[in-house]
Amino acid sequence: MNGKRDYYEVLGVSRNASQQEIKKAYRRLARQYHPDVNPGNKEAEERFKEVNEAYEVLSDAEKRARYDRFGHAGLQGGGFEDFAGFGGFGPFGGIDEIFESFFGATRPRTARRTPRRGADLRYDLTISFEEAVFGCEKELEIPRAETCPRCRGSGAEPGTTPTRCPQCNGTGEVRRVQQSILGSFVNVTTCPRCRGEGEVIITPCTECQGQKRVRKTRHLTVKIPPGVDNGTQIRLAGEGEAGIYGGPPGNLYVVLNVKPHPYFRRQDSDIILELAINVAQAALGDKIKVPTVDGEEELVIPAGTQTGEVFRLRGKGVPHLRGNGRGDQLVVVRVSIPTKLTPEQKKLFKELSKTLGREVIPQEEKGLLDHLREVLGW
Ligand SMILES: [Zn+2]
Ligand SMILES: [Zn+2]
Repeated sequence: MNGKRDYYEVLGVSRNASQQEIKKAYRRLARQYHPDVNPGNKEAEERFKEVNEAYEVLSDAEKRARYDRFGHAGLQGGGFEDFAGFGGFGPFGGIDEIFESFFGATRPRTARRTPRRGADLRYDLTISFEEAVFGCEKELEIPRAETCPRCRGSGAEPGTTPTRCPQCNGTGEVRRVQQSILGSFVNVTTCPRCRGEGEVIITPCTECQGQKRVRKTRHLTVKIPPGVDNGTQIRLAGEGEAGIYGGPPGNLYVVLNVKPHPYFRRQDSDIILELAINVAQAALGDKIKVPTVDGEEELVIPAGTQTGEVFRLRGKGVPHLRGNGRGDQLVVVRVSIPTKLTPEQKKLFKELSKTLGREVIPQEEKGLLDHLREVLGW
């Protein structure tokens, strides 16, 4: 209890201040330093505790007398250490509750039938590789909660209206006075009968059973732009669940899952195609037809092409989702060695082998992506 400020000084009143003056000073300071008014301000929080502690003592004739005679030391023991527990303001909700508990003041309160936004919905949609590249339109079936058309979201049967909740008298909250060593305080909880809404429906709407919303399955068309990828989300604003009490609807998020292609692979906006050519094509060069997402394209394989060499078909990749242009198609060449040779071919290879020598060179094994990273500087 060392280093405590004088309670009169804390409240800014004289030693012979009346109860009225003390109460007035406390009311002013508590409002000034209340945590609700100063969120996150540690200094205000400390001041608030200090002010409350000072008031707790000076507003009680007996404690005040003890304090006047013995100072802070006069208040130790007798459960006063429990002030430490005051710090969290457990029993008190907000600033209004504190004033009610100390001054018995009541502030008229009406239940919050505040508009509530509807929930967001997620729809997982699987599309093909080509649909992701070029975009598409898809019809979706979305089961969702919509505002009940019969009661227009009131929950009450047409011709009737919700009535004031008898348990909380329309305030939406239930208050109980509880006693503690710090005096009485008011414990406020949400009314269990109306769940804080302040009104109850006596004659529920026959269509929504008083739920205010009904489940409907809607058919929606979603436009998938070119260039989307696995995991791309498309937001359909306002197509989620209906709000309550006039609140706005939530959004619908369409999350895309792109099916893998049998031979095209995707790396951002580029399309990778691995292509097998035979030894003769690799050694002598060739002009070949290569599949792309736009159809066949001509590609010139120069003489002496090695396995792993990469050829770029500019603009044959995926359109950029944001911005113009397209990525490229990268053709990664694999030289395939024939496994079955005709007697004629065997003879030719033997001829060939005589001229090629028998030198062997150790090679490093690399994955395709690592290889591309190296070749293309990704
Ligand atoms: Zn209804
Ligand atoms: Zn109620």
